[in-house]
Amino acid sequence: MTKRQTTQEQPVTLPTGFNHWLTDCQPYPGCGVCAANYRQCQEAIAAGDIVKATRHATEVRDHAGGMHETGPL
Ligand SMILES: [Zn+2]
Repeated sequence: MTKRQTTQEQPVTLPTGFNHWLTDCQPYPGCGVCAANYRQCQEAIAAGDIVKATRHATEVRDHAGGMHETGPL
């Protein structure tokens, strides 16, 4: 008698860690542009739109790393 477990196939998604890496970003404190993009990034994650989330995360990273000099405050 063979045991065969029938599990529901999950839809193909990227690994959580990869999504986290894509959407990982640090908004610069007090910057409205960073804050707005960060909020939209989080909303997109909540909505499952990882492409949109990644785009906003990139905006935050570009802004925080380019417009603001990152360093000791
Ligand atoms: Zn900014």
